[in-house]
Amino acid sequence: MSQASQTPPDAPVVTRIAPSPTGFMHIGTARTALFNWLYARGRNGRFLLRIEDTDRVRSTPEAAEAIVRGMRWLGLDWDGEPVSQWAMRERHAAVAREMLARGSAYKCFATQDEIEAFRAAARAEGRSTLFRSPWRDADPATHPDAPYAIRIKAPQDGVTVIRDQVQGEVTIRNSELDDMIVLRSDGSPTYMLAVVVDDHDMGVTHVIRGDDHLNNAARQMLVYDAMGWQVPVWAHIPLIHGPDGKKLSKRHGALGVEDWQAMGYPAAALRNYLVRLGWSHGDDEFFTDAQARDWFDLSGINRAPARLDPKKLDNLSGKHIAATEDAALVAQVQEFLAATGRDPLDDGQVERLGRAMYCLKDRAKTYIDLIEKARFCLVERPVQPDEKAAALLTDEARALLAELTPHLQTASWMRDTLEAEIARFNDARGLKFAVLAGPLRAALAGRTATPSVFDMMLVLGRDETLARLQDSAG
Ligand code: GLU
Repeated sequence: MSQASQTPPDAPVVTRIAPSPTGFMHIGTARTALFNWLYARGRNGRFLLRIEDTDRVRSTPEAAEAIVRGMRWLGLDWDGEPVSQWAMRERHAAVAREMLARGSAYKCFATQDEIEAFRAAARAEGRSTLFRSPWRDADPATHPDAPYAIRIKAPQDGVTVIRDQVQGEVTIRNSELDDMIVLRSDGSPTYMLAVVVDDHDMGVTHVIRGDDHLNNAARQMLVYDAMGWQVPVWAHIPLIHGPDGKKLSKRHGALGVEDWQAMGYPAAALRNYLVRLGWSHGDDEFFTDAQARDWFDLSGINRAPARLDPKKLDNLSGKHIAATEDAALVAQVQEFLAATGRDPLDDGQVERLGRAMYCLKDRAKTYIDLIEKARFCLVERPVQPDEKAAALLTDEARALLAELTPHLQTASWMRDTLEAEIARFNDARGLKFAVLAGPLRAALAGRTATPSVFDMMLVLGRDETLARLQDSAG
């Protein structure tokens, strides 16, 4: 059984996210980061960022930047500077040598050929192929003057128990653990060593990460034990699955945080959605950051994998957009336009969009959706109708718009009077409202799906409304 003690419950909380910069920022990483961030922020703790860039072949600076960008966009602020794991390699190597000095690790001179021969023989005899180094108990006097790896002296019997906050007690037989290498013969530290040294040095108290790392935890415990360090609280969270219940893969579509940003989801909506992926608080679905911070706890993490549900994301996103204050929403739209390389809004557009928000934000699921619905107040005259709208502007419809225009010239520009004016106009001609509504939408917005005709008129004002009607009346 592991000798190392677990972090006492009253220690100030320190969590971290430790992504490997080998591609884009995966939503799984985003969710893990979010869980760690919420856990720390809800407890006056610290949340740290470590870039695990020890794999020099696969790690790229661009991928590290994508992670930083993704974190910033999601609003997951970390304390201090990001730590580069690669930059700490001397320290990792020093710890491996300290293990030697403590007698909890040993120099292993076995060559690759010898290891392979050992495995072949073990296979032939039907024994475990875990390498058992002959150097474990060798007298140092017999050490050759040759390159060596440093291996940890793992316990050979008994069990290692991981007390996991999500998975419960996970017991691994020590006979299944080998004397893993912590420092290779070329002097480079192994990943398994680096993670533990960094977590220890960064003062990490809680390791919340994907359950694909659960097996690593058993081996990492060996490092804590070998150094007599305090083991953090573990919480290995089930991975995210696709809507079909299968492990996430490219065929499930967009999996990068930047993709979701480009689709126009507000960061707050994504935070809400991601925290519900694998964690629950009663039946609550929609909540603010402050609520999530107050409520988030490891005990609410589900043991079954969460499934992506795009409909639910749309739904939550719509609720967040609707709940955002108009001015803040305009600012978010501007940020979205800038982040996705679209043209910025000019002052007039900003002003009109702000005035239109009341009739837009209740129905939009994304910023893209919102911008499309806001088209009527963003475009300049003459409004170019799309195909469907153009089809509504028949000669008859144009004549009707021409007839209507003078009636609106004198009407007072308020919803009630406008409604009454148009109702009178329709009644006099025995027309249903729908007959006029289509051409009005087409004339005012160049679209067939728009906010209500009256909302558009009110936002555009009398002069702009009449001018657009005249443009289309032809
Ligand atoms: N670098 C690992 C990953 O990206 C995480 C390691 C950890 O959290 O301990 O999956």
